Amino acid sequence: MAKATTTIRQSLNYQPQYAHYFAENAALFNRVVSFYFDCIQAHAGILALTNQEALTALERLTHATERHASPILPLDNIAPGIPAMFRRAAINAALGSARSFSSSLKKWRTRKEKHEAKQLRKSAKSRPFRERPPVAPRTWKKSAPFYAGLWKERQDHSIVLKVWTGSCWSWVKVRTLGRDLPADFEMQSPALVRRGAQWWLHTCIEKTFTAPPKIAGQVTNTETRICAVDLNINEHIAVCTVQTVEGTILATRFIGGGREIAGFRKCTLGRIARNRSQTGIIAENEQDNAALWAKIRHRDEALAHMVSARIVQFAASHGASILVFEHLGSLRPEKGRYSRRGNTKRAYWMKGRIFRYSKYKAWNAGGIITSRVNPRNTSRECHRCHGLVVRYNAGQPVTPKGGTAGYTPGAALVLCETCQMRDHADRNASLRIGQRLLERYQEPLKEKPHTAGRRGGRVSKETGVTRSQDAKRRSGPSTRQARQGDSNAHGTAQDALLKFPGNETCLQCHGPQRQAGPGVTPEAHSHHGANSEGNKCVACHMPQIAATIADVMVRSHTFNFISPSMTDKYGIPNPCTSCHQDKTTRWALDALDQWSNISPWRMAAR
Ligand SMILES: [Zn+2]
Repeated sequence: MAKATTTIRQSLNYQPQYAHYFAENAALFNRVVSFYFDCIQAHAGILALTNQEALTALERLTHATERHASPILPLDNIAPGIPAMFRRAAINAALGSARSFSSSLKKWRTRKEKHEAKQLRKSAKSRPFRERPPVAPRTWKKSAPFYAGLWKERQDHSIVLKVWTGSCWSWVKVRTLGRDLPADFEMQSPALVRRGAQWWLHTCIEKTFTAPPKIAGQVTNTETRICAVDLNINEHIAVCTVQTVEGTILATRFIGGGREIAGFRKCTLGRIARNRSQTGIIAENEQDNAALWAKIRHRDEALAHMVSARIVQFAASHGASILVFEHLGSLRPEKGRYSRRGNTKRAYWMKGRIFRYSKYKAWNAGGIITSRVNPRNTSRECHRCHGLVVRYNAGQPVTPKGGTAGYTPGAALVLCETCQMRDHADRNASLRIGQRLLERYQEPLKEKPHTAGRRGGRVSKETGVTRSQDAKRRSGPSTRQARQGDSNAHGTAQDALLKFPGNETCLQCHGPQRQAGPGVTPEAHSHHGANSEGNKCVACHMPQIAATIADVMVRSHTFNFISPSMTDKYGIPNPCTSCHQDKTTRWALDALDQWSNISPWRMAAR
């Protein structure tokens, strides 16, 4: 079984004198906790017991009953007539503190012994062990929980609490403001918590449900849906897409508001900068412009909560059971004024926040699992064919003047020149993020774990996304590499651009059972050996017959088979004799005639 817990925080509406009662109640609680803490310290054996046994033992030590009329350390010395549940809450709190203190003391002792043993062995220059031992808590600031029996009549907007008023135990009724308790959660003990001058009621709630299967188990089920999220620092803070394991895209949502928050931050950071310039020197260790900083912080916090809630709501409404983000790239400091740098930094922090909040919200929403994938090239690759895309702005030519198709960092639209896919850049990235998670499980070890820190020449996602190797090279592939292109799986010298080696890229779609694929194995179809050059799909369907500069031949994108007879007719090169250079076209045509699965009529017609 899996558990989801969350805390409902409700602000309270009460009569003014109650604030005094609550303070008295908390003070008494802390006195009792402190008393029990000392009790436990005096009776070291207690910590060896389980919590339940320790509770019984401590009550026997301190609480007078008919059978034990005179306990050794009577609690009545602190305050008479403490309710049993108040006492138990205090005992549990004290036990928690004592266990934590005892374990840190134990660790400190081990470190000390280790140090001393080392000194003995060295014997030369002895260095004393300088680390101070942990100290027991000297002040207690625990919030008083209300166990069953200390509260009653809990309704949507009110609760009756039993508190120590400073002179007697009394029931007080308070109104609770804020959100209601969700119905399907189990409620734990509420606690009175002080925030500034105001008292709040915190209630921990818990839900148990059957644990969802691990991601590896879920992706094998075709019913599984994945919600992928691309977080940005521009207008669309989050772009979410839901897709099935097989890749069918079901829904998309753009969550905006980025421009508004950026404008607000720009204003406020500018005001802070102006204030600072007027003040001159800022005192060290003193927060300047505290109210303005708080304003920024609260707006960021509120927006992160809102965006994460919407992401989770979107995922849940489309039945997604996995939420995928990308790992945060490294933040590159941006040049510019103070307010601009501060703004970018906060927008970047926002991404981390949204991830953290979404993670727990998704889990609480019924066990949606959150995962992260490598962010490399998610905005650069086409979600349909995984080739590199062109990124451009609306109204802008896809191909800039006088140059080849380019990549405008941060532009809104993408075009894949290979498969003519056109889409919104962030939506494309979001889809790639989802696919990357699936790829991880379909092909283990394909994706390397994300490593922190920048790699050479890497541009952060905010400024322009990673550039591929060939994009970085100014001059393009050299003719030598281009000529040796046939040593590669694909036509170009950039083997790395392909997602899969050899024929696998083609066979993804043109498999035996798929559209226009060979009905037999590649070897039977090509009549060439399994690992030979001639067995490659590209050898015949994308032959190196397209002339470029001088005598360099590159792969043609004809996809049709160029028969040797076309060489005789039109003088264009054909794949057979460009490979078998010592043979004639007649020899090639005779060989083709022997291939029983190829229609001689089709060959002759060409
Ligand atoms: Zn494409």
